[in-house]
Amino acid sequence: MQLNEVIAFLESKAPPSLQEDYDNSGLLTGSPEMDVQGILVCLDSTEEIVEEAVRLGCNVVVAHHPIVFGGLKRITGKNYVERTVLRAIREGIALYAIHTNLDHVHTGVNRRIAEQIGLGGIRILEPRTGQLCKFVVYGPRDVIQPVREAIFLAGGGQIGAYDECSFMHPGKGSFRASEEAHPVIGARGERAEPDEYRLEVLVPRWKVAEVLASARASHSYDEMAYDIYPLENVHQEVGAGMIGELPVPMRAEAFLHHLKQCMGAQVVRHTRLCREEVRRIAVCGGSGSFLLGKAISQGADVLVSADFRYHQFFDADGRIIVADIGHYESERYTIDLLAGWLSEKFRTFATHKTGVVTNPVNYL
Ligand SMILES: [Zn+2]
Repeated sequence: MQLNEVIAFLESKAPPSLQEDYDNSGLLTGSPEMDVQGILVCLDSTEEIVEEAVRLGCNVVVAHHPIVFGGLKRITGKNYVERTVLRAIREGIALYAIHTNLDHVHTGVNRRIAEQIGLGGIRILEPRTGQLCKFVVYGPRDVIQPVREAIFLAGGGQIGAYDECSFMHPGKGSFRASEEAHPVIGARGERAEPDEYRLEVLVPRWKVAEVLASARASHSYDEMAYDIYPLENVHQEVGAGMIGELPVPMRAEAFLHHLKQCMGAQVVRHTRLCREEVRRIAVCGGSGSFLLGKAISQGADVLVSADFRYHQFFDADGRIIVADIGHYESERYTIDLLAGWLSEKFRTFATHKTGVVTNPVNYL
């Protein structure tokens, strides 16, 4: 099994185009053509993790955080990033990161947190715009039917809990074939005006190329007329944070104890318990303080995240309870999520979860 098959699988789950501009998800060392002997999953691919991978016979490390963020100008081993990269290359280990793209999909980091806490009715807290396109293609009924099937198969036509969504309406096409053309309808040099259909389908931006190729392959015209429109619609399944409800309201303090226990947090730093009971909970793995306003506007009683600064605790201002459980703690179950996906999909090699706690924060 080549690494590129593993990458294609992970990227079908969390398309790389969904990562933030500052991010550096993807393959950081190694070659996509290498044979996978085993995968080690972790949050942070440190030197210790590379050592662990060697010990376990794994030549691929799948980490949530990219060890290389900005560019490396020299690799002499003077800091932990350079040492890790050097070591990985020397040991023939591929380092792959699946970071903010995994944060932004509805099946990713934040769903795992929401499930761990026991929330129901989970949805994206801040759904994104600019992720959807309208794909339009034209042709007679018998030409357009197989095209529609091919588009559905390529992942077009999904809206929330529905798939195979499309709209078709009839009209009149016109075209005149040149001497180089191979018209299915009409003759060269003459205008044809066949009855045609306009087929419209919603397609996520990252699937447009595949949908276009599939439509082309199944369309019998030598020149397929099509349009791609960017849309302003929000994509309900893509964006930052998630929000959901506890099955029954809990007393605020009891919820914080529950949170601490089920996320394995040593400390929960929280704002004043301005609610007696809590039910609607917003979550964001890692540094989620930027979602404070959104969580308040969505009526969350609590925002569970990490990396809140002193002054940001003031910003809660009695409108919400901020619960900071620590960055590592908030994302620890991402390891189970990725390892679960990989071991279910690939049976020809072993997928291991790291036994190393890479949390750089210690508590006294
Ligand atoms: Zn993180």
